[in-house]
Amino acid sequence: MNLINVSPVRHRSIYNFCAGPAVLPDPVLDQIQSQLKNGLNGMSPFSVSHRGPEFMEIVERSEFNLRTLLNIPSDYHVLFVAGGASMQFSMVPMNLLGAHETADYVVTGQWSEKAFEEGLRFAPMRLASHAGPEFNRIPAVATWQINPAAAFLHYTPNETIDGIQFSEIPKVPLPLVADCSSEFLSKPMDVSRFALIYAGAQKNIGPAGLSIVIVHRDFVGLASRGIPSLCDYASYAQTQSIYNTPPTFSWYIVDLVLQWFLLEGGLTEIERRNRKKAQLLYAAIERSGGFYSNRVPSQLRSMMNVIFHLPNSALEDAFVAGAEQRGLMNLAGHRCKGGIRASLYNAMPEAGVHALIDWMHYFQEQNA
Ligand code: PMP
Repeated sequence: MNLINVSPVRHRSIYNFCAGPAVLPDPVLDQIQSQLKNGLNGMSPFSVSHRGPEFMEIVERSEFNLRTLLNIPSDYHVLFVAGGASMQFSMVPMNLLGAHETADYVVTGQWSEKAFEEGLRFAPMRLASHAGPEFNRIPAVATWQINPAAAFLHYTPNETIDGIQFSEIPKVPLPLVADCSSEFLSKPMDVSRFALIYAGAQKNIGPAGLSIVIVHRDFVGLASRGIPSLCDYASYAQTQSIYNTPPTFSWYIVDLVLQWFLLEGGLTEIERRNRKKAQLLYAAIERSGGFYSNRVPSQLRSMMNVIFHLPNSALEDAFVAGAEQRGLMNLAGHRCKGGIRASLYNAMPEAGVHALIDWMHYFQEQNA
C-alpha cells in the first residue's frame, strides 16, 4: 500500500538546513524505520502504553542519558513537557513568579521579544535590556537595568531568527532562566548556573511536540493558584512527566537521539563538529569580498543558525531556488528577516556545509 507519494530523490543527496523541525541523524532515522511496525516488544513505538514497560524504559533511559550528557546536578528536575518552547513562555511566569510582582527580560532577538510579550500577559514584566531594532548586538551585562525585586531574569542564549548567540552565561544577581531551544545539547553547558532552562526538541534533539525543562527543585511548587495542572511543573516532577499521556512518539525519538550523541562521543565532540561547520561557513562568507555578508559581530555569530545576505533580494531568491535544485533545502531566511539562513544543528554533516559552500562559490562566479 502506498499512502503517500514521497519524493523519489535519495535521502542522502539532500541536505536540509531547516531551522526547525530540523534534520535528524541518519542512524536514528534508520532505527526508527526498522522499529516502526513492531520494534518494541512486537509493538509499534506509536502504540505502546505510556505506562507500560517498553515506554518506561525509554523514560528512564532518556532522563539518565540527558543527565549524563549535561552533567545535571541531582537537585534539578528533568521534565518532558508537551508543546513547543512557546508554551514555556507562559509556564515560566506561571510557575516562577511566586509572590513576586514582576520579572526581568533581556531582549536580543525575535524569540526573546516574544517571550517578553507573553510574560506581559501575566505580570508587568520589565525590560532589563533591549538590543533592537536590528538585533545584531548584545548589550554588555554591566549596562542591564536589573531589578532586585524581580522573580527571575529571562534571556535567549541563541536567537534562531537573528543568528546571534551569547558567548558566555551572563552573571546576574537573579535566578536565571534561559530559552535554549536552538542551542540545546549543541555543546556542554553548566546547568548549575540556572534556575531553569527549557528547549523545544525540534532543533537538535528530536521532532516537534515536546520540550525539555530542566529546573532547580527550589523553583518547583511555586505555581500560582488556579493554574491548570498541566501548566504546573510540580505535576511533571511528581510523575516522571507522565501526569497524562505524553507525546510518546516524539519522546521515543528524543531517546534515540540522546543515545546517538553518547555514541558519537558526547557534547564535547558534538561541539567540536559544530564549531568546525560554523567556522567553515563564516569563513566562506568572509572570503566572498562582500558578495555574501553577515551583520553580526564575529564573536556573537551563532554556531547554529548562520544568517547571510546577498546584494539584493532578487539574487537571494535565485540563490535559494538554485540551491534547492541541488538538494540544499530550506535556506530562505525567516519571513520577517529575509536573507539566507543555514541551520547547522548537530545532525547536519560537515559534507552538507561543503556542499553549500560549493554552491556559494558557483553562484557568486555566475552572478557577481
Ligand atoms: N524559542 C526559540 C529560540 C525558537 O527558536 C523557537 C522556534 N523556532 C521558539 C522559541 C518557539 O518554539 P515553538 O514553535 O516550539 O513554540
